[in-house]
Amino acid sequence: MAAITQTCAKCTKQFLVIDQEQQFLREKNLPTPSQCPECRQARRLELRGGRKLYRAKCSKCGKDIVTSYDPQTATSPILCREDYDKWNVEGDLMVNEPLPDTNTPQ
Ligand SMILES: [Zn+2]
Ligand SMILES: [Zn+2]
Repeated sequence: MAAITQTCAKCTKQFLVIDQEQQFLREKNLPTPSQCPECRQARRLELRGGRKLYRAKCSKCGKDIVTSYDPQTATSPILCREDYDKWNVEGDLMVNEPLPDTNTPQ
């Protein structure tokens, strides 16, 4: 298996998806990332925001978690690390590969 060259959907920089990562994605049944590691990292930091930590429950699996989102004001679902990572990858796809019909942005 060879490394795949991908073009970042955000900054159009080319990046490699190495063997190991491909294997990881396959095991987790996740799609190939559409943004370069820098853009993904920046997005994550942006989404995570401040340092203050809160105790909450994962809105997907109900597990107790510590999060930097304030559960009172959070605008997106609060997820445990596992569900968050999954959501993050799926989120990238939705942003960069708009679906026809139903999910057309306003
Ligand atoms: Zn990028
Ligand atoms: Zn969860």
